[in-house]
Amino acid sequence: MAWVCLHLPMIQRPSILVDLLLGHEPRLRLTLLRTLTAGGVYLVCLLLQAHSVWAEYVPLQEATGVFVFVLLGQMGFYGVLRTGWTLSLRDPALTMPQMVFALSALALAYRVNPHVRGAVLIVVPLVLIFGAFTLTPSRCRALGWAAVALFGSAMAWGASHDARQIDTTIEWIHFFFVATVLPTISLLAGQLSQWRSDLQVQKRELREALDRLRLLATHDELTGLPNRRHVQEWVRQAPARDAYATRSACVALIDLDHFKRINDLWGHAVGDSVLRIFAREAVRLLRSRDMLARWGGEEFVLVMPDTSCTEARAVLARLREGLARPDVWAECPQARATFSAGLSVQTATQTFEEAMRLADTALYAAKDAGRDRVVAAID
Ligand code: GH3
Ligand code: MG
Ligand code: MG
Repeated sequence: MAWVCLHLPMIQRPSILVDLLLGHEPRLRLTLLRTLTAGGVYLVCLLLQAHSVWAEYVPLQEATGVFVFVLLGQMGFYGVLRTGWTLSLRDPALTMPQMVFALSALALAYRVNPHVRGAVLIVVPLVLIFGAFTLTPSRCRALGWAAVALFGSAMAWGASHDARQIDTTIEWIHFFFVATVLPTISLLAGQLSQWRSDLQVQKRELREALDRLRLLATHDELTGLPNRRHVQEWVRQAPARDAYATRSACVALIDLDHFKRINDLWGHAVGDSVLRIFAREAVRLLRSRDMLARWGGEEFVLVMPDTSCTEARAVLARLREGLARPDVWAECPQARATFSAGLSVQTATQTFEEAMRLADTALYAAKDAGRDRVVAAID
């Protein structure tokens, strides 16, 4: 009923009428579509009831009462949902009220159809089962007991007001079935709902674990920078990503100067802080299209796509100036570090590994020349 989800073709081919009926917000559209689908089911039930009136099983006056009840209720739900007001609620489809309404309508139909009331009972489990998709287990159970109360009342009402047509013994038998079967069905619906929510939690936890694993596999824990494997993969995908790059990429191998001395003098924890500060400052100072990764130990690789050697030198100079600022090292002022870098240009015919070899040679030259400097492989 209200919760039956039909993906009608019209939802994929929006028209002015559909927009008017369902609005634009996707969640609202789905909710309203379900309510209108329920309206369709109610319509079929009312048509069957109209047939009962025509066959003189049901008095017109009582059938009209059911008709008005269902019509006003459905229009009310549609109107409230269409405003979009319920979207901020935990149950934007008003599932629980809609289900209580459906059960009330069925109980009323049971009361006014003495000849075919047994058929009405068949529909009730269908209503309760749908609770498994949206309601919590306790709400499913509550709905089961609400159904017993509603049908018990309808039966008592019928037995006391319509003794001519309603056999009290049969009514007791009906009630026995209602009081045993409906709570059982709602209990099962509740269990299904519990499994559903457990699965949702497991799915979320798995997704989070996967995200964590992915981060651990691709990033360095100490600095938070991408690791060697990740930068290699990133470089492999560069042609597709930088399809419009007109120039070669530049690669810089950066090595902190006298880092062993920092460790020896101030301890490993301070050494770690220096690595973290370097990474943090570098990320802040570099361009968003560049990739800085921890290559290993106190070595970092900086890949600068679509960059000339002059521009790459400017990037590294900015990094050097940034790291020279005393406030950057406020965490460990005693251990301010400089870096040496070997720079190479990765031409179209070169692999990243070749460019890295050249950068490594240039880095050696920078160290030999006294550290705290950049040497380009083409110099
Ligand atoms: P150079 O200027 O020639 O590069 O000298 P260096 O002392 O920086 O180079 P060396 O390769 O001799 O020392 C690197 C040191 O970095 C040795 C190693 O213990 C240290 N190191 C590597 N990884 C880490 C880390 O994660 N944390 C800390 N604190 N130290 C590390
Ligand atoms: Mg080194
Ligand atoms: Mg070093």
